Amino acid sequence: MPDINQIIDIAKECGFTAAAELNVEKLKFFPEVRDMCAADKCHAYDKKWVCPPGCGTLEECEARIRAYKNGVIVQTMGELEDEFDFETMGDLMKNHAESFKVFVKKIRPLFPKILPVSAGDCSHCESCTYPDAPCRFPDIATSPMEANGLLVSQVCEDNGIKYYYGKNTLAYTSCCMFDLD
Ligand code: SF4
Repeated sequence: MPDINQIIDIAKECGFTAAAELNVEKLKFFPEVRDMCAADKCHAYDKKWVCPPGCGTLEECEARIRAYKNGVIVQTMGELEDEFDFETMGDLMKNHAESFKVFVKKIRPLFPKILPVSAGDCSHCESCTYPDAPCRFPDIATSPMEANGLLVSQVCEDNGIKYYYGKNTLAYTSCCMFDLD
């Protein structure tokens, strides 16, 4: 079984700009964060199994995450030309999602089970089966941080990772839970 530093090294090899141990016990699950999903700004609310209400109640999401003892937090930070640099924003999100996919693929064989919690919603299928049929890939489906009631800035702060890097910067953050023993 690898140790936490080996997992962090694997994360860094995957292209993240920051990676650190995640204190699962310290995580806080906010109903207010979860409630923001209902505004449907990301167009995934009630459309995917990994988002509310398909992903279960806040309590169920918390129990799912708290079933793990260990985790890592990973982040991709980039600089924008200005606050309207949507192209770089999109590229950053794409790069982060790709790094996260590679990371999860690399560490999955090291643990009997893992729980990835991502910066965006699940994109494993062209079209999600929700709500007509069960999730096609429940083992690899990734639920967004916010859908689980996690306030990204707080999770970063509690785990020694910066959230805000200054004007015209942007950072995407994801987590992955597992048990080291
Ligand atoms: S794996 Fe496919 S079916 Fe399952 S949540 Fe993701 S997109 Fe939907």
